[in-house]
Amino acid sequence: MKIDVRNLSKRFGNFVALKNVDLDIASGELLALLGPSGSGKTTLLRIIAGLDFADGGEVYFAGENAANLNVRKRHVGFVFQHYALFRHMTVFENVAFGLRVRPRRERKPEHEIVKRVKRLLEFVHIEGLAERYPDQLSGGQRQRVALARALAIEPNVLLLDEPFGALDAKVRKSLRRWLRDLHGELNVTSVLVTHDQEEALEVADRIVVMGNGKIEQVGTPEEIYNEPANSFVFDFIGESVKLPVRIENGGIWIGSRRLATNDELPASGPARLFVRPHDLTFGEVSEAPLQGAVRSVRRVGALSFADVRLDYGGDDLLVEASLPPETIVRAGDLVGLTPRRYRIYEDGAAESLTSA
Ligand code: ATP
Repeated sequence: MKIDVRNLSKRFGNFVALKNVDLDIASGELLALLGPSGSGKTTLLRIIAGLDFADGGEVYFAGENAANLNVRKRHVGFVFQHYALFRHMTVFENVAFGLRVRPRRERKPEHEIVKRVKRLLEFVHIEGLAERYPDQLSGGQRQRVALARALAIEPNVLLLDEPFGALDAKVRKSLRRWLRDLHGELNVTSVLVTHDQEEALEVADRIVVMGNGKIEQVGTPEEIYNEPANSFVFDFIGESVKLPVRIENGGIWIGSRRLATNDELPASGPARLFVRPHDLTFGEVSEAPLQGAVRSVRRVGALSFADVRLDYGGDDLLVEASLPPETIVRAGDLVGLTPRRYRIYEDGAAESLTSA
């Protein structure tokens, strides 16, 4: 089901939680609401669900103003971070719950309910756990049950609020892939709230980056990662190195060195260059626009990083650069660094994507 959000605003007392939010959610897509804590993700989700009311604006479900639809009529499936399973019910009963509490005329006969629950448990790969109680399950298994329960009612829209937030990194990773595959089969319109950029990048068809109650950017994972609309998105979506630069005479100046570029640049004046650590390439000291001394080298799993103290026009600036596997540097080495792909932002506003 297609969902349109129009000019939505929400305050809690004097605090503005949502500011003029406009968003089109396509039928069947998996949309991630991504942003730091307090950016308004859950508030937006709750308003879409009908659990909370906006102060201004509208939500449309398949073109119908949702103000006329209560929570039940919106037919929404929920999964929360803290598995809200009924502790006194088995897995089977938990999943069957939504089907059994329907008004009599909408309720399916018991044998159909049993068949459907069995199918759902198979679908989420927990068919062997039907008779267990929630406290006999791992966190990951509980979230599978929660999802099966949400899907049992054949929702128009599935709302997932940090569903894997309480799980350890490894389980999170495997559940993410599982959710991605599951969504591929179901194609139910889904909105996933997360503050984990990796999760959003891996799972979502499109990502909505939120900051301070506003939408900062909407795009595919590739667009969000490769073409962040502003410094907020660049910073939030991955590791970033920020360098003060000057735009002058049609070039980018890092101290007294000019960075080669053919791209269109913002107006002359001070600006900031944002680059991912793996987009800083090591090279000849005499040729690279940045020079510095390696302070330390770290390994994190398969990756290596070098902390380089840049000689930055009198100021020292410590940056972390990713080391390609074949590059060996030691503490004390003088190295040259060249930003390979970067973006220039003028006072936080989006300007241009450039690559050297
Ligand atoms: P998190 O990732 O921490 O859940 P979020 O992006 O989901 O954050 P929201 O839960 O939407 O953020 O909250 C947005 C802001 O609104 C927060 O600053 C929060 O403190 C505030 N807020 C939310 N609900 C209420 C409420 N019922 N009363 C007062 N303030 C609230």
